[in-house]
Amino acid sequence: MATDLPYPRRIPLARAGTPLEPLPRTSAALGVEVLCKRDDLTGSELSGNKVRKLEFLLAEALDQGADTVITCGGEQSNHCRATALAAARAGLASRVVLRTDDPAAPPPTTGNILLDRLAGATVRWISRPDWARRNAIMEEEAAAVRAAGGRPYVIPEGGSNAMGSWGYLACAAELADDLAPLPARPTTIVFACGSGGTAAGLMLGARLVGLEARGVRVAAVNVCDDRAYFVRVIGRICDELTARWSLPAAIGPDDIDVVDGHVGRGYAKSRPEELATIRDLCRRDGVVLDPVYTGKAFHGVVSELARDRGRFGERIVFVHTGGIFGLFPAAAELEPLL
Ligand SMILES: *Cc1c(COP(=O)(O)O)cnc(C)c1O
Repeated sequence: MATDLPYPRRIPLARAGTPLEPLPRTSAALGVEVLCKRDDLTGSELSGNKVRKLEFLLAEALDQGADTVITCGGEQSNHCRATALAAARAGLASRVVLRTDDPAAPPPTTGNILLDRLAGATVRWISRPDWARRNAIMEEEAAAVRAAGGRPYVIPEGGSNAMGSWGYLACAAELADDLAPLPARPTTIVFACGSGGTAAGLMLGARLVGLEARGVRVAAVNVCDDRAYFVRVIGRICDELTARWSLPAAIGPDDIDVVDGHVGRGYAKSRPEELATIRDLCRRDGVVLDPVYTGKAFHGVVSELARDRGRFGERIVFVHTGGIFGLFPAAAELEPLL
Protein backbone atom coordinates (compact mmCIF):
# COMPACT_ATOMS: atom_id res chain seq x y z
CA MET A 1 0.00 0.00 0.00
CA ALA A 2 2.80 2.36 0.94
CA THR A 3 4.36 2.10 -2.48
CA ASP A 4 1.16 3.56 -3.95
CA LEU A 5 1.84 6.92 -2.35
CA PRO A 6 3.31 9.53 -4.71
CA TYR A 7 6.49 10.05 -2.69
CA PRO A 8 8.51 13.12 -3.70
CA ARG A 9 12.21 12.60 -4.31
CA ARG A 10 14.22 12.04 -1.14
CA ILE A 11 17.84 11.63 -0.22
CA PRO A 12 18.69 8.77 2.15
CA LEU A 13 19.51 10.13 5.60
CA ALA A 14 17.44 8.11 8.09
CA ARG A 15 18.28 4.58 9.16
CA ALA A 16 14.61 3.85 8.62
CA GLY A 17 12.79 0.64 9.27
CA THR A 18 13.30 1.51 12.94
CA PRO A 19 12.39 -1.28 15.38
CA LEU A 20 9.05 -1.52 17.15
CA GLU A 21 10.02 -2.85 20.56
CA PRO A 22 7.99 -4.04 23.54
CA LEU A 23 8.50 -2.26 26.88
CA PRO A 24 7.55 -5.21 29.12
CA ARG A 25 8.14 -3.77 32.58
CA THR A 26 6.67 -0.40 31.68
CA SER A 27 3.63 -2.22 30.26
CA ALA A 28 3.23 -4.15 33.52
CA ALA A 29 3.59 -0.99 35.61
CA LEU A 30 1.05 0.96 33.55
CA GLY A 31 -1.41 -1.91 33.02
CA VAL A 32 -1.52 -1.52 29.25
CA GLU A 33 0.68 -2.93 26.49
CA VAL A 34 3.29 -0.34 25.49
CA LEU A 35 5.41 -0.69 22.38
CA CYS A 36 8.09 1.79 21.37
CA LYS A 37 8.73 2.80 17.75
CA ARG A 38 12.41 3.62 17.99
CA ASP A 39 12.71 6.69 15.80
CA ASP A 40 15.45 7.78 18.17
CA LEU A 41 17.42 5.14 16.24
CA THR A 42 17.20 6.82 12.83
CA GLY A 43 20.90 7.50 13.34
CA SER A 44 23.48 8.54 15.90
CA GLU A 45 24.35 12.24 15.68
CA LEU A 46 21.84 12.55 12.84
CA SER A 47 18.90 10.98 14.66
CA GLY A 48 15.32 11.54 15.75
CA ASN A 49 12.20 12.50 13.85
CA LYS A 50 13.66 15.47 11.98
CA VAL A 51 15.88 13.18 9.91
CA ARG A 52 12.87 11.62 8.20
CA LYS A 53 11.59 15.08 7.26
CA LEU A 54 14.99 16.29 6.08
CA GLU A 55 15.19 13.46 3.53
CA PHE A 56 12.47 15.21 1.55
CA LEU A 57 13.32 18.80 2.44
CA LEU A 58 16.99 18.55 1.47
CA ALA A 59 16.12 16.74 -1.76
CA GLU A 60 13.94 19.72 -2.64
CA ALA A 61 16.74 22.12 -1.62
CA LEU A 62 19.20 20.30 -3.92
CA ASP A 63 16.65 20.17 -6.76
CA GLN A 64 16.28 23.95 -6.47
CA GLY A 65 20.04 24.40 -6.68
CA ALA A 66 20.39 25.68 -3.12
CA ASP A 67 23.80 25.87 -1.48
CA THR A 68 22.72 27.04 1.99
CA VAL A 69 19.89 25.90 4.24
CA ILE A 70 18.39 28.17 6.88
CA THR A 71 16.17 27.11 9.74
CA CYS A 72 15.20 28.05 13.30
CA GLY A 73 14.39 26.61 16.71
CA GLY A 74 14.86 26.80 20.46
CA GLU A 75 18.39 26.97 21.84
CA GLN A 76 18.66 23.17 22.17
CA SER A 77 16.76 22.53 18.94
CA ASN A 78 17.06 18.94 17.72
CA HIS A 79 15.74 20.09 14.38
CA CYS A 80 18.51 22.68 13.93
CA ARG A 81 21.16 20.12 14.91
CA ALA A 82 19.78 17.55 12.48
CA THR A 83 19.57 20.18 9.74
CA ALA A 84 23.16 21.34 10.30
CA LEU A 85 24.47 17.76 10.17
CA ALA A 86 22.31 16.70 7.23
CA ALA A 87 23.39 19.83 5.35
CA ALA A 88 27.04 18.95 5.94
CA ARG A 89 26.41 15.46 4.54
CA ALA A 90 24.72 16.92 1.49
CA GLY A 91 27.54 19.43 0.93
CA LEU A 92 25.40 22.42 1.88
CA ALA A 93 26.15 25.29 4.27
CA SER A 94 23.73 25.96 7.12
CA ARG A 95 22.51 28.90 9.17
CA VAL A 96 20.42 28.35 12.29
CA VAL A 97 18.38 30.99 14.11
CA LEU A 98 18.17 30.03 17.79
CA ARG A 99 15.88 31.48 20.45
CA THR A 100 17.35 32.27 23.86
CA ASP A 101 16.62 34.47 26.90
CA ASP A 102 19.47 36.90 26.31
CA PRO A 103 21.05 36.88 22.82
CA ALA A 104 23.94 38.97 24.20
CA ALA A 105 24.79 36.14 26.63
CA PRO A 106 24.06 32.94 24.72
CA PRO A 107 23.95 29.57 26.50
CA PRO A 108 27.02 27.34 26.74
CA THR A 109 28.16 25.35 23.72
CA THR A 110 26.81 22.00 24.84
CA GLY A 111 24.34 19.35 23.65
CA ASN A 112 22.76 20.26 20.33
CA ILE A 113 24.50 23.65 20.23
CA LEU A 114 27.87 21.93 20.28
CA LEU A 115 26.82 19.75 17.35
CA ASP A 116 25.44 22.75 15.42
CA ARG A 117 28.78 24.47 15.78
CA LEU A 118 30.77 21.32 15.05
CA ALA A 119 28.84 20.89 11.79
CA GLY A 120 29.79 24.44 10.84
CA ALA A 121 26.38 26.05 11.16
CA THR A 122 26.32 29.83 11.50
CA VAL A 123 24.32 30.59 14.65
CA ARG A 124 22.18 33.72 15.01
CA TRP A 125 20.78 34.19 18.51
CA ILE A 126 17.41 35.89 18.85
CA SER A 127 15.29 36.87 21.86
CA ARG A 128 11.95 35.36 22.84
CA PRO A 129 10.05 38.49 21.66
CA ASP A 130 11.84 38.29 18.28
CA TRP A 131 10.72 34.67 17.89
CA ALA A 132 7.34 36.02 16.73
CA ARG A 133 9.21 37.38 13.67
CA ARG A 134 11.22 34.20 13.07
CA ASN A 135 10.07 33.84 9.47
CA ALA A 136 11.04 37.43 8.67
CA ILE A 137 14.40 36.89 10.37
CA MET A 138 15.04 33.77 8.29
CA GLU A 139 14.19 35.85 5.21
CA GLU A 140 16.85 38.37 6.31
CA GLU A 141 19.32 35.49 6.50
CA ALA A 142 18.21 34.33 3.05
CA ALA A 143 18.75 37.86 1.69
CA ALA A 144 22.25 37.90 3.18
CA VAL A 145 23.04 34.57 1.51
CA ARG A 146 21.76 35.89 -1.83
CA ALA A 147 23.73 39.13 -1.43
CA ALA A 148 26.87 37.01 -1.03
CA GLY A 149 26.05 35.18 -4.27
CA GLY A 150 24.57 32.09 -2.62
CA ARG A 151 21.27 30.25 -3.03
CA PRO A 152 19.29 29.84 0.19
CA TYR A 153 16.60 27.29 1.04
CA VAL A 154 14.50 28.12 4.10
CA ILE A 155 13.08 25.30 6.22
CA PRO A 156 10.31 26.33 8.65
CA GLU A 157 10.41 25.61 12.39
CA GLY A 158 10.65 21.87 13.01
CA GLY A 159 10.74 21.10 9.29
CA SER A 160 6.97 21.15 9.69
CA ASN A 161 5.47 21.83 6.31
CA ALA A 162 3.83 19.52 3.80
CA MET A 163 7.13 18.45 2.21
CA GLY A 164 8.73 17.61 5.56
CA SER A 165 5.66 15.69 6.69
CA TRP A 166 6.23 13.14 3.94
CA GLY A 167 8.75 11.70 6.35
CA TYR A 168 5.92 10.72 8.65
CA LEU A 169 3.65 9.50 5.89
CA ALA A 170 6.53 7.10 5.25
CA CYS A 171 6.72 6.25 8.96
CA ALA A 172 2.96 5.51 9.01
CA ALA A 173 3.57 3.03 6.21
CA GLU A 174 6.36 1.44 8.28
CA LEU A 175 4.06 1.23 11.29
CA ALA A 176 1.40 -0.50 9.21
CA ASP A 177 3.98 -3.17 8.35
CA ASP A 178 5.23 -3.33 11.96
CA LEU A 179 1.72 -3.86 13.34
CA ALA A 180 0.47 -6.26 10.66
CA PRO A 181 1.85 -9.44 12.28
CA LEU A 182 0.62 -8.53 15.79
CA PRO A 183 -2.75 -9.60 17.18
CA ALA A 184 -5.36 -6.96 16.39
CA ARG A 185 -6.35 -4.90 19.41
CA PRO A 186 -7.47 -1.32 19.98
CA THR A 187 -4.26 0.63 19.55
CA THR A 188 -3.22 4.27 19.71
CA ILE A 189 -0.04 5.70 18.23
CA VAL A 190 1.14 8.42 20.64
CA PHE A 191 4.05 10.88 20.37
CA ALA A 192 5.27 14.35 21.31
CA CYS A 193 4.04 17.26 19.22
CA GLY A 194 6.08 20.47 19.01
CA SER A 195 5.51 21.98 15.58
CA GLY A 196 2.92 19.61 14.11
CA GLY A 197 4.70 18.00 11.17
CA THR A 198 5.08 14.59 12.75
CA ALA A 199 1.42 14.65 13.78
CA ALA A 200 0.25 15.71 10.31
CA GLY A 201 2.21 12.92 8.63
CA LEU A 202 1.10 10.22 11.06
CA MET A 203 -2.55 11.28 11.14
CA LEU A 204 -3.00 11.54 7.38
CA GLY A 205 -0.67 8.58 6.90
CA ALA A 206 -2.68 6.33 9.24
CA ARG A 207 -5.71 6.97 7.06
CA LEU A 208 -3.86 6.54 3.77
CA VAL A 209 -2.11 3.29 4.63
CA GLY A 210 -5.20 1.67 6.17
CA LEU A 211 -4.12 1.75 9.82
CA GLU A 212 -7.22 3.65 10.81
CA ALA A 213 -9.39 1.07 9.06
CA ARG A 214 -7.71 -1.53 11.31
CA GLY A 215 -8.75 0.31 14.48
CA VAL A 216 -5.50 2.19 15.06
CA ARG A 217 -5.90 5.75 16.29
CA VAL A 218 -3.31 8.53 16.46
CA ALA A 219 -2.92 11.00 19.34
CA ALA A 220 -0.38 13.83 19.68
CA VAL A 221 0.71 15.07 23.13
CA ASN A 222 1.57 18.75 22.77
CA VAL A 223 4.66 19.97 24.62
CA CYS A 224 3.96 23.67 23.96
CA ASP A 225 1.06 25.90 22.89
CA ASP A 226 -2.38 24.28 23.16
CA ARG A 227 -4.90 22.04 21.50
CA ALA A 228 -6.60 24.76 19.43
CA TYR A 229 -3.24 25.92 18.06
CA PHE A 230 -2.21 22.43 16.98
CA VAL A 231 -5.58 21.52 15.48
CA ARG A 232 -5.06 24.57 13.23
CA VAL A 233 -1.40 23.87 12.42
CA ILE A 234 -1.82 20.12 11.82
CA GLY A 235 -4.98 20.73 9.78
CA ARG A 236 -3.20 23.25 7.57
CA ILE A 237 -0.28 20.87 6.86
CA CYS A 238 -2.66 17.97 6.11
CA ASP A 239 -4.71 20.15 3.76
CA GLU A 240 -1.59 21.13 1.86
CA LEU A 241 -0.43 17.52 1.61
CA THR A 242 -3.80 16.37 0.29
CA ALA A 243 -4.12 19.24 -2.18
CA ARG A 244 -0.58 19.42 -3.52
CA TRP A 245 -0.19 15.67 -4.12
CA SER A 246 -3.88 14.92 -4.80
CA LEU A 247 -3.90 12.32 -2.03
CA PRO A 248 -7.01 10.13 -1.75
CA ALA A 249 -7.69 11.09 1.91
CA ALA A 250 -8.05 14.22 4.00
CA ILE A 251 -7.98 15.10 7.69
CA GLY A 252 -10.55 17.44 9.26
CA PRO A 253 -10.45 19.20 12.65
CA ASP A 254 -12.50 16.43 14.29
CA ASP A 255 -9.94 13.84 13.22
CA ILE A 256 -7.10 15.55 15.08
CA ASP A 257 -6.61 14.18 18.60
CA VAL A 258 -4.31 16.52 20.55
CA VAL A 259 -3.84 15.42 24.17
CA ASP A 260 -3.52 18.79 25.90
CA GLY A 261 -2.78 19.51 29.56
CA HIS A 262 0.78 18.21 29.80
CA VAL A 263 2.86 21.25 28.86
CA GLY A 264 3.59 21.73 32.57
CA ARG A 265 5.91 24.65 33.29
CA GLY A 266 6.24 25.49 29.60
CA TYR A 267 8.27 24.50 26.57
CA ALA A 268 11.65 23.02 27.51
CA LYS A 269 10.93 23.52 31.22
CA SER A 270 10.69 20.37 33.30
CA ARG A 271 8.77 19.41 36.41
CA PRO A 272 10.37 16.86 38.76
CA GLU A 273 7.61 14.34 38.00
CA GLU A 274 8.44 14.51 34.27
CA LEU A 275 12.09 13.84 35.01
CA ALA A 276 11.08 10.98 37.32
CA THR A 277 9.15 9.44 34.41
CA ILE A 278 12.33 9.59 32.30
CA ARG A 279 14.24 7.86 35.10
CA ASP A 280 11.56 5.19 35.60
CA LEU A 281 11.33 4.27 31.92
CA CYS A 282 15.10 4.04 31.69
CA ARG A 283 15.35 1.83 34.78
CA ARG A 284 12.45 -0.40 33.76
CA ASP A 285 13.22 -0.95 30.11
CA GLY A 286 16.52 0.76 29.32
CA VAL A 287 15.11 3.36 26.93
CA VAL A 288 16.26 6.96 27.33
CA LEU A 289 13.77 9.79 26.76
CA ASP A 290 14.57 13.50 26.52
CA PRO A 291 13.21 16.21 28.82
CA VAL A 292 11.80 18.58 26.17
CA TYR A 293 9.69 16.27 24.01
CA THR A 294 9.55 12.53 24.59
CA GLY A 295 9.84 12.62 28.39
CA LYS A 296 7.15 15.27 28.67
CA ALA A 297 4.88 13.41 26.25
CA PHE A 298 5.40 10.06 27.92
CA HIS A 299 4.69 11.65 31.28
CA GLY A 300 1.47 12.90 29.66
CA VAL A 301 0.65 9.30 28.71
CA VAL A 302 1.31 8.11 32.27
CA SER A 303 -0.89 10.92 33.68
CA GLU A 304 -3.73 10.19 31.25
CA LEU A 305 -3.61 6.49 32.12
CA ALA A 306 -3.76 7.28 35.84
CA ARG A 307 -7.07 9.04 35.17
CA ASP A 308 -8.41 6.64 32.54
CA ARG A 309 -6.73 3.30 31.93
CA GLY A 310 -8.62 2.94 28.64
CA ARG A 311 -7.72 6.35 27.19
CA PHE A 312 -5.52 4.85 24.48
CA GLY A 313 -7.16 1.44 24.09
CA GLU A 314 -5.34 -1.79 24.92
CA ARG A 315 -2.07 -1.04 23.18
CA ILE A 316 0.05 2.11 22.98
CA VAL A 317 2.63 2.57 20.28
CA PHE A 318 4.82 5.34 21.63
CA VAL A 319 6.87 6.89 18.84
CA HIS A 320 10.23 7.80 20.36
CA THR A 321 11.13 10.86 18.32
CA GLY A 322 14.69 11.23 19.68
CA GLY A 323 16.22 14.23 21.43
CA ILE A 324 18.89 12.56 23.55
CA PHE A 325 21.33 15.48 23.26
CA GLY A 326 18.82 17.65 25.15
CA LEU A 327 19.23 15.36 28.16
CA PHE A 328 22.75 16.49 29.04
CA PRO A 329 21.98 20.19 29.54
CA ALA A 330 19.34 18.99 32.09
CA ALA A 331 21.87 16.97 34.11
CA ALA A 332 21.79 19.25 37.17
CA GLU A 333 17.99 19.00 37.37
CA LEU A 334 18.04 15.21 36.99
CA GLU A 335 20.84 14.52 39.42
CA PRO A 336 18.76 14.82 42.64
CA LEU A 337 16.37 12.16 41.30
CA LEU A 338 19.03 9.56 40.62
C1 LIG B 1 10.90 18.23 17.05
C2 LIG B 1 10.70 17.11 17.98
C3 LIG B 1 9.42 16.60 18.26
C4 LIG B 1 8.17 17.23 17.73
O1 LIG B 1 7.92 16.95 16.38
P1 LIG B 1 7.12 18.00 15.52
O2 LIG B 1 7.03 17.39 14.18
O3 LIG B 1 7.93 19.26 15.54
O4 LIG B 1 5.80 18.22 16.16
C5 LIG B 1 9.31 15.51 19.08
N1 LIG B 1 10.39 14.95 19.65
C6 LIG B 1 11.63 15.42 19.43
C7 LIG B 1 12.77 14.77 20.11
C8 LIG B 1 11.83 16.51 18.58
O5 LIG B 1 13.07 16.97 18.37
